[in-house]
Amino acid sequence: MFEVNEGIIQVSYIIATILFILALGGLSNQETARRGNWYGIIGMAIALIATFVGDVTQHYEYLIVALLVGGTVGIIAARRVQMTQMPELVAILHSLVGLAAVAVGFANFMDPARLSHYLGVELTIHDIETYLGILIGAVTFSGSVIAFGKLSGRIGGKPLTLPGRHWLNLLLLIASFWFGYEFVVQSAAGGGMQPLIIMTVIALLFGIHMVMAIGGADMPVVVSMLNSYSGWAAAATGFMLGNDLLIVTGALVGSSGAILSYIMCRAMNRKFLSVIAGGFGTSEGTQVAGAEDQGEVAPIEAEETADLLTNAKEVMIIPGYGMAVAQAQHIVYEITKSLRAQGVNVRFGIHPVAGRMPGHMNVLLAEAKVPYDIVYEMDEINDDFPNIDVSIIIGANDIVNPSALTDPDGPIGGMPVLECWKGKVSIVLKRSMATGYAGVQNPLFFLDNTRMLFGDAGDTLDKVFKEL
Ligand code: NDP
Repeated sequence: MFEVNEGIIQVSYIIATILFILALGGLSNQETARRGNWYGIIGMAIALIATFVGDVTQHYEYLIVALLVGGTVGIIAARRVQMTQMPELVAILHSLVGLAAVAVGFANFMDPARLSHYLGVELTIHDIETYLGILIGAVTFSGSVIAFGKLSGRIGGKPLTLPGRHWLNLLLLIASFWFGYEFVVQSAAGGGMQPLIIMTVIALLFGIHMVMAIGGADMPVVVSMLNSYSGWAAAATGFMLGNDLLIVTGALVGSSGAILSYIMCRAMNRKFLSVIAGGFGTSEGTQVAGAEDQGEVAPIEAEETADLLTNAKEVMIIPGYGMAVAQAQHIVYEITKSLRAQGVNVRFGIHPVAGRMPGHMNVLLAEAKVPYDIVYEMDEINDDFPNIDVSIIIGANDIVNPSALTDPDGPIGGMPVLECWKGKVSIVLKRSMATGYAGVQNPLFFLDNTRMLFGDAGDTLDKVFKEL
């Protein structure tokens, strides 16, 4: 239908690639994130048009229907999704990349022209590409579906720890290698479908088992890891289709996802392999036995909290997962504006693993339109706490737990935390004495300069705002 010079297509692909790289660069910073998004959108539009007019198919009617269906589903999903549902949307989108890689792999293998097109070593290489593409795609697909189930609460968050599960994984891995060998040998002789199907089933089971074994709150790391896998699946699809843009884009997604997983693990002081091996993390909200051993906590009411805040000069707000649950970001900003209008210097201190996904707090604060220049990373403000009059800890727990520093062998031992106890007063907003994700008691709650403001953070902050 279209007669477009191959050179123009290649140039378009290169421009799209550059835009994707600029998009990733832009997304690394809040102030440039919006621009980064635009680079990505324009790059994707160019890539789609170039692919559309390039020599990919004789049947444009299929392509148009697919574009319309995919585009409509995407627009509806993006419009409907709540901010708190973002991780599960990302997970289900990853599963589609995996599924596409599996479908392309099988289509490629069943293409009758394959045996005449590739000969000898070329055929072997092509078969390995197909095999790996389907393998990575199937793991990404089933793993992402389970991740979606866990993140949306359809599947329980507790890790599934089958006896001998590491041996089971090893067995599945060895079996995949073995069937890979069988596939390449049989494919050269005109067969190969059987080992390919067996491997696909194994890979699907492996994806399910891998994600089922990871504890509920560890899921964000899994999402960044599956993000990485989906990139490699896309790159493998690019190899199968001989599409350079897909290879480069897939590699960009694959490596950025891997870097993100690494950053998350480092911020939590966890080893990547131990997250993947799973079995860690209880269902959050556990009431710890022996809490009373640590002494009494001192409660506080909204009225007194408002008094402390208005009389303070320096206030640090430390948001955590509970702020996301309570959707308290908007009222937090109202309080911030009111206090700043009274001359109180209010700042936000953000821990890298606060919440349940990378950048969770930054996204919520941006949604509430909190200006970026009062939002600080942990490393930037941790030394300021001795000068802070009041720290307000909104639904955060592990990220302000002093035992991370005093108990190196505990579940969060060694994790850097926001050292709010060094300030004059810390006010902790939470509903009960339940623990956070890591399931450890927090000695901060029992310190002399800590007050507990019990209740849903949204409700209590409403009351504080009224008092202000
Ligand atoms: P935590 O899970 O440690 O604590 C959250 C606290 O919020 C709970 O103690 C809970 O107490 C309280 N809470 C829940 N709902 C409400 C509500 N409606 N109103 C008021 N309080 C509420 O969260 P943090 O953000 O402090 O720490 C994050 C944890 O998650 C870390 O352990 C981190 O390692 C882990 N993690 C984070 C990842 C990420 O990507 N950010 C990835 C993987 C793990 P209560 O029930 O009493 O109200």
